[in-house]
Amino acid sequence: MMTIQTDLFLQYINELMQPEKFQDYCPNGLQVQGTNTIKKIITGVSATQELVDKAIAQNADAILVHHGYFWKGESQVITGMKYKRIKALLDANVNLIGYHLPLDCHKEFGNNVQLAKLMNWNVLGSIESGLQQGLVLKGQLNTPMNAKALANQFEQQLNFKPIMIGSDDKMIKDVVWCTGAAQSYLQHAIDVGADAFITGEISENTVHNAIENNIQYFACGHHATERYGIQALGEHLAERFNIEHEFIDCPVPV
Ligand SMILES: [Zn+2]
Repeated sequence: MMTIQTDLFLQYINELMQPEKFQDYCPNGLQVQGTNTIKKIITGVSATQELVDKAIAQNADAILVHHGYFWKGESQVITGMKYKRIKALLDANVNLIGYHLPLDCHKEFGNNVQLAKLMNWNVLGSIESGLQQGLVLKGQLNTPMNAKALANQFEQQLNFKPIMIGSDDKMIKDVVWCTGAAQSYLQHAIDVGADAFITGEISENTVHNAIENNIQYFACGHHATERYGIQALGEHLAERFNIEHEFIDCPVPV
C-alpha cells in the first residue's frame, strides 16, 4: 500500500469529475481540509455523523461522499449538528471530499451508469432537452419483464423494497432513470414514451402524474440508488494510487 499527497489526489479527482462543468447546489471537491497525505479512504453516500465517526474509527485520511455539506439555502453558520460533524473531522484531521452532480452524471463512475450496470440495462443515451449530459438516462432492459418482476429485481439488487405505481403485469422494456430525488423529471420519461421511470424518491403528485400518463413509476430509495457511484469511484482511486478503500453503508429508509 502507498501514500499519496492530498493535493495530487484532489487534482486527479477534479480532472476526472470536471466539477467546473456543473452548476451545483454545493461545492464539489475538498469541503473540509485534513491531513496532507492519504493512505486510506472511506466512501459513503452521505457525510452524516455516523459515517464520520465510523471513518475516523477506521483511521481514514479522507472521506469521499455524494452528499457532503454547505448546501445552497441552508444556514451558513457552523452550529449544532453541523458543528459536531465538522469538529469531529477537524479534530481527527480527516479530509472531507464531496461530489454531487458530477458524480450523478459521470459516464463511467456515475450513479446513473452504475445503476444500469447493477441492473444489467443497456444504456442508450442521455435525455437532452436542456438537461446536463448524463443526468437523466434512457435505456432498455436486457430482458423485458413485467413490472412485478422488475420490482422484485430492484428489491434483490438494491436491498430496498420499491414503491411502485402502476399495474403488476405491465411489460417493461424502455426505461428512463435518474438516481436520488428526481421525481420532477418524470415528464422527460413520458415525453420519450418510456414504459417506466425509475428514481429514488416519490411525491404525492408524482402518483397522479404517473397513473394519468400511463407510465410505470418505481421509487427505489434515494440512498439505495446512490450507493454505487461513490463506491465505483473509490475502487478506481484505490487501484489508481494503490491506497486502501472501504465503502461504509449507513442505510436510510428513504
Ligand atoms: Zn442524492
